[in-house]
Amino acid sequence: MVGLYWKPIEGLQIAMDGPSGSGKGTVAKHVGKELGLPVLDTGLLYRFAGWQATAADVDLMDESAVLQVLHEVLPEMQWRAEGIFFESNDCTSLLRGEDVGGLASQVAHYPKVRALLLDVQRDIAKSGCVMDGRDIGTVVLPDAQAKFFLTASQRERARRRWAQLHVKDKELSIEQVADELMERDKRDVGRDCAPLERAKGAIQIDSTIMRVDEVVDRILAVLERRDLIHAI
Ligand code: C5P
Repeated sequence: MVGLYWKPIEGLQIAMDGPSGSGKGTVAKHVGKELGLPVLDTGLLYRFAGWQATAADVDLMDESAVLQVLHEVLPEMQWRAEGIFFESNDCTSLLRGEDVGGLASQVAHYPKVRALLLDVQRDIAKSGCVMDGRDIGTVVLPDAQAKFFLTASQRERARRRWAQLHVKDKELSIEQVADELMERDKRDVGRDCAPLERAKGAIQIDSTIMRVDEVVDRILAVLERRDLIHAI
């Protein structure tokens, strides 16, 4: 596959990890577009798991019940670069709410849930992609040719999430979003199984005062320097 100006090497896998609001999703989309690679947002998978378990009214503290629900619904789920489809309906925008993000992180610490979703992720990444999440560089694609770890200050991350969510919920305050993010980060960093951490060899980029295009340019420069992409 090729982008407008760049041709990636065959099967190029780019791992992009970071906490919520670090900009990894937006940056991943732009990098994918530049390179003509599919962009896979793995957070959507965990959001789907938390959402389905809640819809089935199971106790999120019960790993085997959550797992059972997932076994039942996964055959009806399609994960594409455009988002998540369930029984042929696009449920991506529903999954993006901060409440669903909280449900996701409550089921994401279960090793068996992660193992089940790991296969789904590896399978789809086979022919090359930009994949963003929390454990892509460490667990999902440890052999990815390029790994990035995005960060930003807590205040800026909350502001970005708030700007996204405020469009739909005018009552939402930055403080509320900041509290929920902190709660979620604590769970994601502190869990035993595949916690959020910088993979060995991952390049860390603090995007607090950077524009999206500056972050994207920095990433493209790294990829070009490593001969992973070539100008066309
Ligand atoms: O990235 P996003 O905010 O959509 O992720 C929602 C939640 O899903 C995260 O807070 C985290 O608990 C979980 N997640 C994960 N591993 C990933 C992606 C997301 O544990 N690779």
